Amino acid sequence: MEKKWITRIRMLIIAVAILVTFVSIIIFTRAIGREVNNQTKQTLRDVGNQNALTVEREITERQNFLQGMAKELQEHAGVSVEEMLNIFEPYVEKYHFKRMGYIHKDGIAYTTDGYCRDLSYRDFYIRGMKGESVITDVMQDALGEPENINVLSVPVYRKSTQKIAGVLFATYRTSSFEELLNVECFEGDGYSMIIKQNGSIVADSSKSIFYGKDNYFNALIARNGSKNNKNEIKAMKAAMKKDKSGTADFSYKSEQYLYYTPIDNKMEEQWYMITIVPAKTFQSRVSPLLHNIWVLLAIIIVVLLLVTIIFSYSYGKDKKTLIRLAYMDPLTEGDNYAYFIEKMYARNETGKLEFIVALDFNEFKVINSTCGIAKGDETLQAIWRVIDNSLNRYELAAHINADHYILYLLAGSKKEVTYRIEKLTRDFMSLPESLQIPDLLPYYGIYQIEENDGVEKGYNKANQAKHFVKGSRTDNFAFFEDVDYAQEVENKRLADGFEEAIANHRFEVWYQPKYSTDGTKAVGAEALVRWREKDGSLIPPFKFIPLFEKNGMIARLDEYVFEEVCRQQKEWLDTNRTVLPVSINISRASLYYSSIVEKYVKIVKEHSVPIEYIQLEITESAMIENSEVKELLDRFHAAGFQLLLDDFGNGYSSLATLNTLHFDVLKVDKSLIDYIGNEDGEKLLKCIVELAKSLGLRTTAEGVESIEQVRFLQNLQCNDIQGYYFSKPLPLADYEELISK
Ligand code: C2E
Ligand code: CA
Ligand code: CA
Repeated sequence: MEKKWITRIRMLIIAVAILVTFVSIIIFTRAIGREVNNQTKQTLRDVGNQNALTVEREITERQNFLQGMAKELQEHAGVSVEEMLNIFEPYVEKYHFKRMGYIHKDGIAYTTDGYCRDLSYRDFYIRGMKGESVITDVMQDALGEPENINVLSVPVYRKSTQKIAGVLFATYRTSSFEELLNVECFEGDGYSMIIKQNGSIVADSSKSIFYGKDNYFNALIARNGSKNNKNEIKAMKAAMKKDKSGTADFSYKSEQYLYYTPIDNKMEEQWYMITIVPAKTFQSRVSPLLHNIWVLLAIIIVVLLLVTIIFSYSYGKDKKTLIRLAYMDPLTEGDNYAYFIEKMYARNETGKLEFIVALDFNEFKVINSTCGIAKGDETLQAIWRVIDNSLNRYELAAHINADHYILYLLAGSKKEVTYRIEKLTRDFMSLPESLQIPDLLPYYGIYQIEENDGVEKGYNKANQAKHFVKGSRTDNFAFFEDVDYAQEVENKRLADGFEEAIANHRFEVWYQPKYSTDGTKAVGAEALVRWREKDGSLIPPFKFIPLFEKNGMIARLDEYVFEEVCRQQKEWLDTNRTVLPVSINISRASLYYSSIVEKYVKIVKEHSVPIEYIQLEITESAMIENSEVKELLDRFHAAGFQLLLDDFGNGYSSLATLNTLHFDVLKVDKSLIDYIGNEDGEKLLKCIVELAKSLGLRTTAEGVESIEQVRFLQNLQCNDIQGYYFSKPLPLADYEELISK
C-alpha cells in the first residue's frame, strides 16, 4: 500500500514537472512571439516610413527642379522653343524623366523627344494655366510609347506682365516609382505599393502579390471576403481619410502584415505608401528560435524521463539488493527467518496438514571448537543445502541462528512427516564423513499448525517439543501434542537436581537377593538404585532412569552405582562379612561412551575387589542395531566380568542374540514368568530355558511372586530365582543383615 503511494506521488511530481516545463515554454514562446511580432511591425513601420520618404524626396526634388526651371524661363523670356528644349535635354536624363516639355498658352506642347501636340485637354495644362503646380495621377502616355506616367507641371510666368505664359512639364514613368518600391526589404520577402485613398494602385513593386491589379481594396475583397479583411479595410480607410498611418493584418494567399502611411506628394489626391510583409516571414524568423525552444523542451523532458528511469531503476535495484539482503541469511545465503515469516503469511491453502519443525543439533559447538569456526560455517551451509533440497512445493525453511533452523512442511499425515524427518536425519548423518567432522545428531520438535496460528507461536511450540527430545539418546524428534508437559516439568526438576544428588549421595543402592531355585540360599543380588529426596521420600527408578537415559546422565549414574557397589563389596570383604556377587545394571545409553570398559576396570582395580563379585546386567534391547556391542561385551569378558542378559523376552526377544553374543546368564523377564499357568507360555518358557542351557548359559527368573511359579521353575531346573516371593529389593542394612545369617 505504502509502496503504491510512493510510486504515485513520484509519478505525480514528474508529471507536474513536465507540465510546468511545458506550460512555461508555451508562455515563453508566446512572449517571444509577441516580442518578435512587435519588432517585425516596428521594422515594418520603419521600412514603410523610409519608403514614403524616398518617394516624397523623389517627387520634391523634381518639383523643386521644375520650379527652378520655371523661374529661369521667366528671366529669359526671349528664348526660342528650340533653345528651351536644348536646355531641358540634360535634365531629362538626370532626373530619369521620360521627357520634358513646354506648353504654350494656346495648348500646343513642345517636347524634348520631338513631339508638337495639342495638350490643351490635359488636366495638368488647364490647372497649370490657373497657376497650380501639379503632379498628375497615373495616366496613359498619349505621346510616345503607351505606358503609365505621372506628369509634373509648373506654370511659367512672364516677368514683365506677371501673367502665365505657359506650362513647364516633365513626364515621369510610373514604373520609376516602382523601381523605388523594388528596394529590397525583409530579405526580399517584403514589398511596397503606392495606393490612393480609394484603393487604386498607383505603383506597385513587381514582387507584390497585387501586381497587375487596379485596386488594392477590391482585390482583397474579391479574393477573400473574410470578416477580418473587411474590418481591416474599414479601419484602414477610416485612418487614411484622416491622413493617419497604421498597421493592419489581412490574409491574401497567406497571412500578411501591412503598414500604411501617407506620402506628402503635393498632389490633390493623397497617396499612401503601403508596405507589406507576409506573416510567414515573421514566423520564419521566430521558427528557428521556436524550433530551438522545442528541441530544448524535448531535451529537458528526455533528460527528466531518463533521470526518472535511471533513478527508479537504481532505486529498484537498490531495493532489490536491500530486499535480498533483508531476506537472505548471510551465512547459508539461503532464506532467513524474516523471509520465512513473510512467506508464511502469504502461504496458500494446499489442503495438506501443515507442520512447523524446529531443528538443531546436539553439541554443535563441539564442531566449532574442535574443527574451527570455518568448518562450523561450512557444516551449517551443508545442512542448509540438505534442508533446501528436501523441500517440496510450497514448503519453506530458514536458518535462524547458530545451528537453529525452521522448516514448514506439508504432509498428509504425521507418519509422512516422521518419514521425512527420518530421511533428513539420514542425510545429516552422512555429512560428517565428507566434511570430516564429529557426528551430527539432529533434534526436531514438530508442531502441527492450525489455520490461525502465527509463525511465532508455531515455532515456540515446535521448540518446546524439541526440548523434550534434546539430549535424548533414544528419540530425536517429538510432536508437540505427544509431549506430556507436566511430566516435562517434573523431568526438568529431576535433571536439575541430578548433580546435587550425586554430590550429596542422595542415590541409594538397594539390593534384591537372588536365590537358588530350591530357595535354600541366597546366591547373589541385583543392585537397584533409588533416589532419596531431601524430605526423606524415595523416588523409584522408573521415574528417573528413562529420563537420564534420554539426557545422557545415566552414564554418570551407572558409574556411581557401580562404584558404590565396588566400595560396598570391598568393605564387606575387608570386614569379613558374607559377600555375594552383585549385578549392576548398565544402561544401553551408558554403552555409547566408548571408554566404559577401561573406566569400569579402573574402578574395580582402584577398590581392589575381586572381579567375580561384580556382574553386569545389560538389557537385550541394547543389542539391537548395535554391532559394536559384541566387541564391547568381549572386552568386558576379557576383563573378567560376568555378563547377564537382562529382561530377556520382554518384547525385544531375539533368540539369535543368544547365539552371537556371549553372555553368561540369561535373566528371564517377569513377563515370561507371568505366563506360568498358561500352557503355551509354559512351553515357551521351557524352550527358552532349555535353549539357554544348551548354549551353556545359566538362567535367572525375574519377578517371581508365587509358589506355583517357584515350583514350575524348580521343575525346569532354572538356576536362580529373583522375586518378591523370596525378597523384595532391600536397603543396605536389611540386605547386610539377610546375608550375614
Ligand atoms: P530391572 O533391571 O528389570 O530390575 C528388576 C526390577 O523388577 C526392579 O524394579 C525390582 O524391584 C523389580 N522386581 C523384582 N522382583 C519383582 C517381583 O516379584 N514383582 C515385581 N512386580 N517386581 C519385581 P526397580 O528396582 O523399580 O527397578 C526398575 C528398573 O530400573 C530396573 O529393572 C532397571 O532396569 C532400572 N534400574 C534400577 N536401578 C538401576 C541402575 O542402577 N542402573 C540402571 N541403568 N538401571 C537401573
Ligand atoms: Ca536388571
Ligand atoms: Ca530385569
